[in-house]
Formats: sequence, C-alpha cells, structure tokens
Amino acid sequence: MSEHTVIKKILITAGTHGNEMSGIEYLRNLQSNAQIHAQLVAQTTDIDIELAIVNTLAVARRARYVEEDLNRQFSQEKLSVLTGENLEHQLAVEFNLAFGPKYEPTRDLVIDIHNTTSNMGPTLIILQSDEFHQQMARYVKANMPDAIVLIEDHIPYKQHPYLCTIGKTGIMIEVGPQPQNVLRPAAYLQTEEMTKLVITFCDLWNKQALGELDVVEAFRLTEEVYFPLCSAGNKLAMIHPSLQNNDFTVLNIGDPTFLTFAGTTLGWEGEDQVYPHFIGESAYYHLNIAFALSRKTLI
Ligand SMILES: [Zn+2]
Repeated sequence: MSEHTVIKKILITAGTHGNEMSGIEYLRNLQSNAQIHAQLVAQTTDIDIELAIVNTLAVARRARYVEEDLNRQFSQEKLSVLTGENLEHQLAVEFNLAFGPKYEPTRDLVIDIHNTTSNMGPTLIILQSDEFHQQMARYVKANMPDAIVLIEDHIPYKQHPYLCTIGKTGIMIEVGPQPQNVLRPAAYLQTEEMTKLVITFCDLWNKQALGELDVVEAFRLTEEVYFPLCSAGNKLAMIHPSLQNNDFTVLNIGDPTFLTFAGTTLGWEGEDQVYPHFIGESAYYHLNIAFALSRKTLI
C-alpha cells in the first residue's frame, strides 16, 4: 500500500471460523441493530462499510469448519479453480468472486474478526509493515494501550492463504481468551473497540489528519512449536503450568515449557528472548502445535 492510498471500501467479516462468537455476535448486531450500526459508521464520513458472516453452515453447526479450515483456502492455487474440492474450498472460490478477486481487489481493506482460546488479549494482526500498517498499529495502540500488535510478514502479503488477503490489504482482529462457541463480555467489547479504532484510523488516514504517532512495541511471528510426541504420535507432555496463559511473555533458554505426563519439566531449548503466543490454542491442539513464537520489535 502506498502512502497516499485512500481507503474507500471496507469489508468486515466474521464467522470465517464458525465457532468464534465475538465476531459473529458483533456482526449479527451490526446487521440487525440500527443503533449499533450507527455507532460504527459514525467513525467515518466517507468510507463504505460492508459486512459478511462467511461460513454460515459452520456457524449453524457450531464448528470451526465443516470440511477444511476456510482461513487456509485463499491461496493463489486454491482460488484458481472454478469448483472447490470441498465445502470450504468452494466457499472461498465463491467469496473471492463476490468480494475479491484477490489478484484484482475491489475492497481496499478487509477486516476479518477472530477469537482465540489463548490468553492473547486484543490482538491486531497485520500482514505487512509498510507506512499504512505502521500508522494503524501506532494509532490502535495509542488509543487502546492493552492492544497487542502481531506482524506476520515472513512471506509476501498475497502468499498468505487467509481470507482477508482478498482485499488490497487485509488485517485480522484476534481476541482472547474466549472458549469456542461462547461469548465472553471482555472479548466482545475489545473486538468492538478495536474494530471501531481501525475504522477511525482509516478515516483519519484518508484525511491525512493522524498527526505524529509514537513508535510502539510489536511482535513479529517467527515459527510454530510442536508438542513432544512419542513414536506412536501421542503427546508426551502438556504445556507447562507456568507457561500456560503467559502469551507474549518472554521465554529464555531453560525456562519451563512443557511438563511431561510423568512429571518432568522440560526447559526451553530454542533461542533466548522469544515470545510465545497462541499458547494451547484449541484449534491447533489436534495439529500438535503447542504455541507460536515471535520476536519483540518496534513499529
Ligand atoms: Zn479464527
């Protein structure tokens, strides 16, 4: 995104994962409650805002997805077919035609709302660290000091398979902790607050009225860490109690990381000064992913 790109059309999505209720409830309210909708559009004078609850069948089934994770279907390869191989693949193809297309985008910004079972707090996930996203991160953090900024720019923006990449730019709002299929008030309120701040930011960006914003702390994704497994593929350990719920707290060599079911503490054997997040995320448990790692940075 160049410095002078104007944001005219924003698409806000939820229900990309059908059991993440804060975004789903917020969008339901925006769609059905004129007062709540008015509160959102009051953040801007000239941006067109569209709303979409994406995987309605998964929402009805109270499941993350029906056949495959929808938020991994928006790669160039998967979008290059006319007929998908499963329900979510087909949904991605159709959604890309309706609101994309990814390689000739018609929406300037896609905000895709998620929640996590991990104790990540209100997290703004940006996939690029150019001027626009740098300013967005600074603005959100200045107005919501508890917000976490997570940067996933280890690959070029359009190489991500995420739904939000059908926009000229796309971001995700990821709030936790919230169990699947329930609504926690803190997660709802933080989701609403961060969404409004992003809209307000875009309005001020368009008007070149942001002023000077301070550099803020952020975290840059580096890799995922797996549970130790036995040769049969079963987990040998759980997340160590002292690591559980400590998302975005520094992990140094030797710090307790896993506790084996036999009672042995396994210390961290990776690099110093890393910051785990998505610790024990429910949707990753069956994939044997224990947490993701990031490095602290400034943006
Ligand atoms: Zn999600």
